[in-house]
Amino acid sequence: MTGFSTRAIHDGNPNDPGTGAVIPPLHLTSTFVQDGVGKLRSEYEYSRSGNPTRTALQETLASLEAGATAYAFASGLAAEDALIRAHTRPGDTIVIGNDAYGGTYRLIDQVYRHWGVENRPVDFTDLDAVRTAVAETKPKLLWVETPSNPLLRITDIAAVAEIAHLAGALLVVDNTFATPYLQQPITLGADFVVHSLTKYLGGHSDAVGGAVIVRDAELGEPIGFLQNASGGALSPFDSWLFSRGIKTLSARMRTHSDNGEAIVAAIADHPAVSAIHYPGLESHPGHEIAAKQQRRFGGMVSLQVRGGADAARKLVESTRVFQLAESLGGVESLIELPAAMTHASVSGTELEVPADLVRLSVGIEDSEDLVADLLQALDQLG
Ligand SMILES: *Cc1c(COP(=O)(O)O)cnc(C)c1O
Repeated sequence: MTGFSTRAIHDGNPNDPGTGAVIPPLHLTSTFVQDGVGKLRSEYEYSRSGNPTRTALQETLASLEAGATAYAFASGLAAEDALIRAHTRPGDTIVIGNDAYGGTYRLIDQVYRHWGVENRPVDFTDLDAVRTAVAETKPKLLWVETPSNPLLRITDIAAVAEIAHLAGALLVVDNTFATPYLQQPITLGADFVVHSLTKYLGGHSDAVGGAVIVRDAELGEPIGFLQNASGGALSPFDSWLFSRGIKTLSARMRTHSDNGEAIVAAIADHPAVSAIHYPGLESHPGHEIAAKQQRRFGGMVSLQVRGGADAARKLVESTRVFQLAESLGGVESLIELPAAMTHASVSGTELEVPADLVRLSVGIEDSEDLVADLLQALDQLG
């Protein structure tokens, strides 16, 4: 098999045999002409069911995540929704990380619970707690995010895969933060990988999309069925944007990781900072596992400040290069206050995040500019 960066550029993206165009054409069409009833020219008949531009993206994703097949959806949550609907039934339980992405927990707790699918939040960094939750609830799915959003906790994927499989359950890993460049959960035993393509895979903050990649084709069949039957499929144009973004994934992730490390080194000892969460730090409780299962540590950093929630709010409103916005994973640096923004939907639940937590999505600008910007904002906290 060729290397990761070569596959990111070439797999799923053959040149166009008809014209020689280096980039495969963008098939902006809803339907495909038939030469007689049911006589299709290729496998395609209608773009909800299948479109060559979406197929190209799905092939690239399956290759990069070492999966059998991939399915692209109109958002990360639409991808998660199809996976859950395909692989759970009323009476089943999902064991989910107690610091999962707020939107994921909202889907599982506020939508699926009404359809009889129960959930049990657990701290996946505590394997005994995972074993207990699995023994008590006999779940259908275990749902892990590592590094987690927004606390950057690290879960040992191989260890949790073993616990899941011993209990006859399937393991889902949300690989949005790490991307397949940093870690490939299927090679560590996961059955499904989910992505918000919106984030690092797209990388340019210009489209919303999601995907499920499956370990073997059989697990994917009911997801592919739902992609057509309930229709959350990704559009051709957005598929094309994501294919374009993925070509630079390796280069971007290396710079995100360089800049993340530079920022952590520059602000860790600042008097206004009370805690910093970054798996690249040797003092991070998940550092050793992250070093084992990840290639680098990425560009997501979160920190807590001494002045509490008010100081955190002041910090996110005082940066100039870091822009105040939700989302992450783009080339531009973003800063946000999870308790009031991305994770507001989980306030009052077991997944509530600290009010003084600030999350950085470190972009690929010059690290000197990013460091100077954060230092001037932190200095204002006194
Ligand atoms: C953003 C995000 C999602 C949801 O994806 P959308 O594309 O916004 O629907 C899921 N998981 C994680 C970790 C995310 O950051």
